[in-house]
Amino acid sequence: MSRILIVEDERKIARFLELELLHEGYEVETAGDGRTGLEKALTWKPDLMILDLMLPELSGIEVCRRLRHESDLPIIMLTAKDDVSDKVMGLDMGADDYMTKPFAIEELLARIRVGLKKHRVSGVAAASVLTAGALTLDPAKYAVTWEGQPLSLTKKEFDLLKYLMEHKGQAVTRDALLSDVWGYDYAGDTNVVDVYIRYLRHKIDEPFGVKTIHTIRAVGYMFSYE
Ligand code: CA
Repeated sequence: MSRILIVEDERKIARFLELELLHEGYEVETAGDGRTGLEKALTWKPDLMILDLMLPELSGIEVCRRLRHESDLPIIMLTAKDDVSDKVMGLDMGADDYMTKPFAIEELLARIRVGLKKHRVSGVAAASVLTAGALTLDPAKYAVTWEGQPLSLTKKEFDLLKYLMEHKGQAVTRDALLSDVWGYDYAGDTNVVDVYIRYLRHKIDEPFGVKTIHTIRAVGYMFSYE
């Protein structure tokens, strides 16, 4: 049975979610502020977290940022308003998905199922360390190093690099990257892939004077480096 942690300070919403998720057969814990939420995420070890953005004590963004140092727990962020910059920030800080309030419970339940499934799949594949020349990516430790020196990557950069390294020597399309790295909800705009490829090149190719990520015209990208 999957465990879901709800971090939400609006009691009515928290209670509503709790009842719905219990009804679906999940084990549920709730926290009413960011600090308690972070503690429960680390001690109770849920399989997925629903995290409100605006919280007392610690904001949802800050909870995300701190949690990502120790855990790859799937996080669905709730935003009160349709604010693009908050969403992008949440995703940059490591949230896997977001929903804008008010939301349809069926849609949230569907995203929870996707989040849990993706996590199980990546959990199985997480065992092996990926290497290419001086570059090493350790999924279990969530660490990327160059000649043993740690590189600082955001969660999305890490996920993208992991996917590319897993498909070393293969051309992967932007659409495949979008659906496999970002999830179905991000469909429609493949620009985000190009943006994150730039971030990775800026952190790996440029500082070390190498070319690991190649542009394949009219297709997408290929990781190739020994
Ligand atoms: Ca709130």
